[in-house]
Amino acid sequence: MGGVITAGPGAGGPKVSQDVANYRPATGNDSCSVCKHFLPPDACELVDGMISPGGVSDLFERAAGTAPDAQSVLDAFMTGVSPNAT
Ligand code: SF4
Repeated sequence: MGGVITAGPGAGGPKVSQDVANYRPATGNDSCSVCKHFLPPDACELVDGMISPGGVSDLFERAAGTAPDAQSVLDAFMTGVSPNAT
């Protein structure tokens, strides 16, 4: 489908739709809350619309200084639940 690039108010540039970015609930250690593109409390500089800290998209890039600790990685691996989700 066309028209995926939209003007993003307040973020200074075009954004892609949530569908195009494959925005979805986060299930691992990667989530919007630790992504360098997340704009708290509920926006993203790359993806349009309301963005939850507990979501994630294919454009995820971990922000510096947010590496999960070993226990969090293991917990997420064993339970499938993100330690970064609220
Ligand atoms: S994971 Fe995707 S939607 Fe979430 S903040 Fe990062 S780029 Fe934006």
